[in-house]
Amino acid sequence: MTQITLVEGDITEQRVDVIVNAANSSLLGGGGVDGAIHRKGGPEILADCRRLRASHYGKGLPTGRAVATTAGRLPARWVVHTVGPVHLPDEYERRAELLASCYRESLRVAAELGARTVAFPAISAGVYGWPLEDAARIALTAVAEAVAESAGSQGQAEAAGVAEVRFVLFGAEAYGVFERVQRALEQGN
Ligand code: ADP
Repeated sequence: MTQITLVEGDITEQRVDVIVNAANSSLLGGGGVDGAIHRKGGPEILADCRRLRASHYGKGLPTGRAVATTAGRLPARWVVHTVGPVHLPDEYERRAELLASCYRESLRVAAELGARTVAFPAISAGVYGWPLEDAARIALTAVAEAVAESAGSQGQAEAAGVAEVRFVLFGAEAYGVFERVQRALEQGN
């Protein structure tokens, strides 16, 4: 059984196997949670990202995909970088699917690594402009579906082997929104 938990805090301080980074497709660092992860994790993470750019991801990591690097000095084993979509109302459906894909793909990569605990930020809900409540609904739904699928499979599904998926919300407001959306989803709304 995979537990889905919510905490208010800084994702760079989580003792987990995998910290998920809301990266940009260059993989070469940015602001927000990406900046905090590279600052605290140190240069080894960027060195791994550069190697990925020089090998498999010459054009960058496509939106909705995920890839792992070392976690450097962070209290985690790996950072899984994923690229959220920029919020664009004219392309809502396609981009909402890409946002869900970030969670599924990150969980798949984490499970392949053998991670038991995975921490997520609210992907796309910062500089990429996704309204927090909708970002929370997409995030919680995608993870719940991946978890439900892995419970009924022989270890092939996204979350297989992961014991905890922890959403780490930056600030009381974000935490409150995730908590409210989680309760609404549990009640079938
Ligand atoms: P994006 O470009 O995908 O929108 P951002 O990093 O700008 O990514 O923001 C994503 C979310 O991460 C926002 O809700 C932001 O408040 C949050 N955030 C920023 N720093 C941290 C941190 N250190 N730990 C957890 N969440 C963070």
